[in-house]
Amino acid sequence: MSLRTLKLVLAVVIAGFIVSAAYISILIVERQDVLKHVARYNTPWHAAQAVHEFTRLEQRLSAFAAHDPTVSQDEVSLRYDIIVSRTNLLFAGDFREFLYSAPEWLAVAQELDKALKAIQPTIDHLDGPDAAMAALKVLEPLEIKLAGLASAANHYGGQRAEQDQHELIRLHWMFSSLAAGLIVFGLFLLALLGWHNRLLERAHNELRLYADNFENISAKLERTNKALSSAYEELQLRNEALQAQEHELRMQNERFDAALNNMSHGLCMVDGSDRIIVFNARFAELFGIDRTVQPGVTLGHLIGQAEAQDREEVSPLRGIVAEQQELMLKRQQFGFIHEEPDGQTFAISHQPMSNGGWVATYEDITERRQAESQIAYMAHHDALTDLANRVLFRQQLEHALTETGRERLKMAVLCLDLDRFKDVNDSLGHETGDALLKLVAERLRSCIRPQDVVARLGGDEFAILQLAIDDQQDCATLATRIVEAVSMPYDLEGQEIVIGTSIGIAVASEGNLSPDQLLKQADLALYRAKADGRATYRFFEPEMDAELQARRLLETDLRKALVNREFELYFQPQVDVRANEIGGYEALLRWQHPERGMISPAEFIPVAEDIGLISPLGDWVLEQACIVATGWPRGIKVAVNLSPVQFRNKTLVQSVSRALARSGLAPDRLELEVTESVLLQDNELTVATLHQLRRMGVRIAMDDFGTGYSSLSYLRSFPFDKIKIDQSFVRELSSRADCLAIVRSIAGLGASLGMSTVAEGVETEDQFLQITAAGCTEVQGYYFGRPKPASELVHMLATKRRKAEVA
Ligand code: C2E
Ligand code: CA
Ligand code: CA
Repeated sequence: MSLRTLKLVLAVVIAGFIVSAAYISILIVERQDVLKHVARYNTPWHAAQAVHEFTRLEQRLSAFAAHDPTVSQDEVSLRYDIIVSRTNLLFAGDFREFLYSAPEWLAVAQELDKALKAIQPTIDHLDGPDAAMAALKVLEPLEIKLAGLASAANHYGGQRAEQDQHELIRLHWMFSSLAAGLIVFGLFLLALLGWHNRLLERAHNELRLYADNFENISAKLERTNKALSSAYEELQLRNEALQAQEHELRMQNERFDAALNNMSHGLCMVDGSDRIIVFNARFAELFGIDRTVQPGVTLGHLIGQAEAQDREEVSPLRGIVAEQQELMLKRQQFGFIHEEPDGQTFAISHQPMSNGGWVATYEDITERRQAESQIAYMAHHDALTDLANRVLFRQQLEHALTETGRERLKMAVLCLDLDRFKDVNDSLGHETGDALLKLVAERLRSCIRPQDVVARLGGDEFAILQLAIDDQQDCATLATRIVEAVSMPYDLEGQEIVIGTSIGIAVASEGNLSPDQLLKQADLALYRAKADGRATYRFFEPEMDAELQARRLLETDLRKALVNREFELYFQPQVDVRANEIGGYEALLRWQHPERGMISPAEFIPVAEDIGLISPLGDWVLEQACIVATGWPRGIKVAVNLSPVQFRNKTLVQSVSRALARSGLAPDRLELEVTESVLLQDNELTVATLHQLRRMGVRIAMDDFGTGYSSLSYLRSFPFDKIKIDQSFVRELSSRADCLAIVRSIAGLGASLGMSTVAEGVETEDQFLQITAAGCTEVQGYYFGRPKPASELVHMLATKRRKAEVA
């Protein structure tokens, strides 16, 4: 049952209650009424009273009549009055009801009333017994009637009482049943209330459940919402990614197109029925195919078209495709080379596709093939002289060594190095140098037998593999022949050039040497030949190895020397001839070797240059010389020798300015001596560096002038402050007439160019006199002083000099 019905029932029940209550109150009123009847109006009693009083009146009258002294007239009157009032009462209340219900009894009552009224005058004037008797006579007939009335009233009263009794019982029952009904109702109501409560509780629980559910659902909804929004975001991201992909794809397509049409290879793709899917620009270009051809055309048709355009030619593509189709039967990827009768060559890479078609790339490798063979040749030959190169020479040597071992034959390796070639190259230019090398190569080729190999190993180094020799004499003969041939003058565009060659020879008799060992031995022998004055040959001797070891040792010692402070600067005076005093000192480096003692710079400077130590060493010399010079009288300069290698290093200018800054020496007191060879290398850069140094205020002197190839031209390239005439001219002054002439002309040249001229290596008074006579402005040499440590300098000329002047 629903709550609504329940409420309806409750309302009905409550209404029932109200009605019952109202009804009960009505009943109570009714009962009250009934009870009143029972209590107050007693019809029989009234009738009996009337009868009683009537009888008493008769009795008094009789007594009065009988002259009873106890009964007075007043008493009779009183009795009369009582009965009158009693009779009046009969006509009121319940009795009146009774009277009116039975007319005969009403007549009796009215008769009584009438009789009483009739006797009233008598009673009032009751003076004799007769009067009393008369009154008694009037009243007498009523006696029986009144008894009858009383009896009837009694009967009526009984009836009424019974009636009321019934009514009361009925009311009692009704009341009881109502009360019972109310109790039942109450119980029912309680039950209903209980049920209602349960229903309410259930409803409440359900509501709570609903609420929980609602909460759950809303949480779920929220989650779903979130999931949805993240899904949306994801979607958006995917969308973006898709767009990016699409863009990428488009780009890729463009790139693919670009790549396809910019491929160096021709590319063609056909389907299973030989119809073109795609081909690129290079393919069209390679085989003269119309680029506007739409896909779908057969390959055969394309070839026909190309041939029709070319008229007499058969397209190479025809042959290639035929070959492809033949190979297609294997259904494998393959690559092949197709060569046309005219030498045109194609490289084809063929790739079958799953749809029965294929894709292939075509490359015209004609040029490449030619280039390859060219390269193969070049890889083994020297481009300039067309001689075998180092690679081929080594291969031949290796081969020869195995042969030699097998056949117990002797063979030799001759290593050649051209003497003074570098000077030619540097002074006359690379082109002349190259031309000279070609001529040398020709002469070398003419010197050897056909089975021998001559190679250019690089620069001015050559090597000869002399095969099948009897003894060392064969080698010596060949070496002599080569030395002579190479040293014959060369005529290069009207210029006569003379160079020489030194040769080192290593003989292999047992094949027990590796190519490297053999080459190294020949190289060592060459080294010796050069040291022994050039234009000669030397055989390898085991000691040479020891020399090499010694050089290695020198190198390691030299590396340590700077750190170990084994270097010292000596200073040799340069004398100003006219002023007759020391104008400056040349700083000369000394190495005090811990075991070998003093080592000459002529020996270790080239090594320092080779092993890259000259720059730090040179920097040390610069700084040291400047520091020492600051302790000298102001007018005295210091000259520092610079190696050409230092010029190659870009930090030279920095080093010089640092030395000046650290020592505080005035720049014009520093003189830098450079040799001609400095100007040989990268002239422009060197000259620029020299100018930079000059701008700092430093003086620049050209050292060893006259030993180079074109000393004069170097004088043009930079305005030197000083020319130092090489010692060799001074040394031979007295023995060779031309030397004096040369010194004289250099002095004149210097004078006219505004440069001072220094003669080096002046050892004797005679030399000094000749030099001064020739016009040199300064002199330097043992005659004036040997190089000395800074501490031993006196800055004063020795007595010899003065003696000479006197002379
Ligand atoms: P150089 O620049 O020509 O120096 C002159 C060389 O001649 C010095 O040899 C000197 O001792 C020597 N000498 C001087 N007067 C006479 C003489 O009257 N008779 C003879 N026979 N010789 C004389 P040194 O000191 O052995 O130097 C040799 C070479 O080493 C120098 O030749 C120079 O080129 C180089 N050298 C010396 N010190 C340095 C240096 O600090 N740096 C660089 N790069 N080279 C240096
Ligand atoms: Ca010098
Ligand atoms: Ca010199």
